Amino acid sequence: MQHFPIFLALSERSIVLSGGGEAALAKLRLLMKSEAAIVVHAEAPEDEIVRWAADGRLTLVRRPLAEGDVKGAALFYAADEDEAEDKRTAAIAKAEGALVNIVDNLADSEFITPAIVDRDPVTVAIGTEGAAPVLARAIKADLEARLPATLGPLARIGKAFRKMAEALPHGRARRDFWQDYYFDAGPRAIAEGEDKVDAALDDLLTRHLGREAAPGHVAFVGAGPGDPELLTLKARKALDAADVVIYDRLVSGEILELARREAVMIDAGKEAYGPSTPQDQINQLITKHAGEGHQVVRLKSGDATVFGRLDEEIEACEAAGVSWHIVPGITSASAAVAGIGQSLTRRGRNASVRFLTGHDMKGFAEQEWSDLAKPGQVAAIYMGKRATRFVQGRLLIHGADRATPVTFVENASRVDQRVVSSTIGTMADDLAKADLTGPALTFLGLAPRAAQGALADNPHALQKELA
Ligand code: SAH
Repeated sequence: MQHFPIFLALSERSIVLSGGGEAALAKLRLLMKSEAAIVVHAEAPEDEIVRWAADGRLTLVRRPLAEGDVKGAALFYAADEDEAEDKRTAAIAKAEGALVNIVDNLADSEFITPAIVDRDPVTVAIGTEGAAPVLARAIKADLEARLPATLGPLARIGKAFRKMAEALPHGRARRDFWQDYYFDAGPRAIAEGEDKVDAALDDLLTRHLGREAAPGHVAFVGAGPGDPELLTLKARKALDAADVVIYDRLVSGEILELARREAVMIDAGKEAYGPSTPQDQINQLITKHAGEGHQVVRLKSGDATVFGRLDEEIEACEAAGVSWHIVPGITSASAAVAGIGQSLTRRGRNASVRFLTGHDMKGFAEQEWSDLAKPGQVAAIYMGKRATRFVQGRLLIHGADRATPVTFVENASRVDQRVVSSTIGTMADDLAKADLTGPALTFLGLAPRAAQGALADNPHALQKELA
């Protein structure tokens, strides 16, 4: 983030702008939304600026900016649309301590003005670091359409009611009250008129004061393979409602960002061969927080029911009398197979598919090797990187064809997804060469669709990375 967004208090401050043309007009329309005192320097201002000055909305000074004019101002806009003049005025402003923006000159500006969606007191500021004004405009248009015009008045009336709402216990009860107000009772009341909202708030508070606190609960949520767009709507809702999120190492940062801002985030990272939180401790964390009446989201990568030690956590909930439910997610095998353009099953090739683990609690995991070594078998091997040489050895001992395709998919669904195409004969060497550092899935019996033809022609042609 090159530019960090903040909201500036300007009621006791001033903003100075040099310029009187189109660029100045565009900026002034935005700036006049603030409570700052605005001073415009322009020798030949547009009529609109003259009118605003006559209405007392800004102070117009009909001469070029000179030394001393920016003293004490918070912000300065160089908007003369003249490179030399902008440079001159910006230098004065900088020397006098204001933050400087030069219109249409990102490189020499100290700050940028975002696109704004105004539902005062709710303000959305959109910035793209100057990279894509078109995108900022599109997002703005989208939000303008999505946020009802009544949001502003609702928020203003709600703000005045905050003290009253403190009659509700802190935390969940109060949150539920505001949730009801903003998304249900409030919009319904304001549709009948702004004067109906106060009574609706009183009514809502009485109803909420009579409610009993909801008991704690655990949602075991699959976070999918990493791409936030592969979260289910239910997963998003659970994250929105969470008081506590206990997440695994493989859950991506972009997904954690989606959790409610006030949620307590707990890293229960378990690395196959690195430092880890013991399972007992994770179980205790879950039941402790739910026992305190919190909505707990236990967030696991992929699908929580696949190699996730889910049952141990469910049993801990049961033993502690805590209610729970499962929200399914997209397992990494589904994302990885999509990434290579194949399907997991195929008529005439394989009528079943196995999900295997490369290692279990005892070490490298033993499997039905003689079955797996047969032609046409498809398996997705999780946690398989370190076990690759072992798997290769076992398959070859049991008579597997060396030319059988093997594909490694690292970081499936993420922007840094990598596909390494190989065969049983060379899988261990190919993996070592590829040096995959992220989570990877190994497909036995599947080649990337794009490479399938080549593989049939020459099984050795493919011992290279595809992407
Ligand atoms: N519950 C998870 C699997 C947990 S075991 C799921 O359903 O996907 C962890 C293993 O999952 C990793 O060792 C790796 O083999 C696989 N994995 C998880 N995320 C992955 C991703 N984005 N790309 C490829 N493999 C992934």
